[in-house]
Amino acid sequence: MLELQGIPVSPGIAIGPALVLDLDGYRIPKKIIATDAVDEEFARLRKAVTAVAQQLDGQRKATSEVAGETTADIFSAQLQMLHDPRLQAELGRRVRLEHQSADYAVNRVLRQYSDALRRLDNPILSDRADDVRDIEKQLLFELGAVNEQPLSDITEPVILLSRTLTPSETANLDRRFVRAFCTEIGGSGGHTAIVAKGLELPAVVGIGPFLDSVSASARVIVDGDRGVIVLDPDDATLDHYRRRIKDQESLSQKLSELRSLPAETADGHQIRLTANIEFPHETSACIERGGDGIGLYRTEFLYLSSDDEPSEEDHYQAYSQVVREMDGRPVVIRTLDLGADKMGRGPLSEREYNPFLGLRSIRLSLRNLDLFRPQLRAILRAAVHGDIRVMFPLITTIAELRQARMLVKVVAEDLKDAGIPYRSDIPIGMMVEVPAAVVMLEHFVKEVDFLSIGTNDLAQYTLAVDRSNEYVADLYQSSDPAVLRLIQRCVAVADSNNIPLSVCGEMSSNPGRALLLMGLGVRHLSVPPGALTRVKKAIRSVTTEQCEQIAVRAMNLEAARDVDMYLLDRLSKYVPELIVS
Ligand code: PEP
Ligand code: MG
Repeated sequence: MLELQGIPVSPGIAIGPALVLDLDGYRIPKKIIATDAVDEEFARLRKAVTAVAQQLDGQRKATSEVAGETTADIFSAQLQMLHDPRLQAELGRRVRLEHQSADYAVNRVLRQYSDALRRLDNPILSDRADDVRDIEKQLLFELGAVNEQPLSDITEPVILLSRTLTPSETANLDRRFVRAFCTEIGGSGGHTAIVAKGLELPAVVGIGPFLDSVSASARVIVDGDRGVIVLDPDDATLDHYRRRIKDQESLSQKLSELRSLPAETADGHQIRLTANIEFPHETSACIERGGDGIGLYRTEFLYLSSDDEPSEEDHYQAYSQVVREMDGRPVVIRTLDLGADKMGRGPLSEREYNPFLGLRSIRLSLRNLDLFRPQLRAILRAAVHGDIRVMFPLITTIAELRQARMLVKVVAEDLKDAGIPYRSDIPIGMMVEVPAAVVMLEHFVKEVDFLSIGTNDLAQYTLAVDRSNEYVADLYQSSDPAVLRLIQRCVAVADSNNIPLSVCGEMSSNPGRALLLMGLGVRHLSVPPGALTRVKKAIRSVTTEQCEQIAVRAMNLEAARDVDMYLLDRLSKYVPELIVS
């Protein structure tokens, strides 16, 4: 039995067989060869190396004919790498002396090479790393260790273990079979974590290198509440976790009884409690759990979950479905927030050194009007069917806000000229997720109908911590007093200008932090559908005065850790049912 600590990103417990996935979604389990089969295994390795060398040589010749020697040099370089004596010696050593399977040795050795090249942080060597990965894949293909089975083709219940998972890979997982996932890298604020919550899939990330310790037949426990995974658990541990699963089921059952009760404090103050969604089908979870509407629809997932670029019609169909199903309840559509950890294709996928500070979100939309216009047209068209509001992400300057608003006008004119039904009088809001926007908020509030604080990015940009980086995950805390002060300022500016304000970052879905936000004067929280009843339970268990006392005390603390310890203490006093043992 081996217990490992990672970063908890999506709550819940799951137990099941491990499926170890390579970065590209193929499975290379650790396998040890019987002593009398080692020679045969080594011959298999040699045969694969020869076959790949022949293919590379063939590609080199063919490329040289159509594209010239310089282009063909790529394959010469790959051939050289494949024949590198040190590489070959290490492969041979692993198979002959350590009795590893050829597949596993190839996977491990070439991965070490490519990782080492990538760590040098030099774009040219980074490309070489891709070449090494390419050779690895070809060898594995020759060895029959990989087929082209994509992640979405998993057909039996598994716990997915992987070095990393992108947000779109996560989005495409089949919830029926994948019960939980764990990754070696990643931080709590990344979009992979957000999608996991959306799918209600227990997940632990940032565990560090552990895949080498997993055998092909391992059984795994994933504890998404505490960020722990257990490999090959003993019977006592299994019993313990089975009991916790039962406890959680009965808690969910109790919480589900709150679905039709209002999200109001014990002294009768109404809190708007809406859901954050990534996909149209999540509206049903929102309605089932009594959400007051959609407070954040992350539309970029339409982009990330399909191979083709979505057309205006695709956008329109998705938004119309959501607004119709929400049946009169408000739906806040956030325009594309692509870039950084949510990469698309074509010009969007070019490498940037600091993607979170780069061409992401509204910046990208404003520079790619072919991308932005169809989305805005679709939003205005779908608004005919219900209460749609539009919100722009990552607004940093007033010029961006004005440009985006202007574009809404232009698009409305186009629709009018073309005689296409649309509505243009929809509320327009912005996300407050960059410290500059908080500082300049007095100016922004004059030009928007509502605000929503994105604490995920606001914490990232205030604290200078990459939200998806496990090395600095301990510093990434939305409860940091610096972030709290910015939130306090937003509430004050919004209130004095009579502008509605919500918090749609993950902070709202943590019951203790939700009470703190309420104490700071926030009256609208937007959370993943899976957290609706939990947060509602917290809201209904306190009075406004108690929340205000929590805020006063928390604002006097110096560090996120102190704030969170204090919030845990208050939560165990007011809502002990929600404390994870
Ligand atoms: C945020 O930044 O808090 C937010 C809600 O947006 P996203 O997580 O999609 O960046
Ligand atoms: Mg954001």
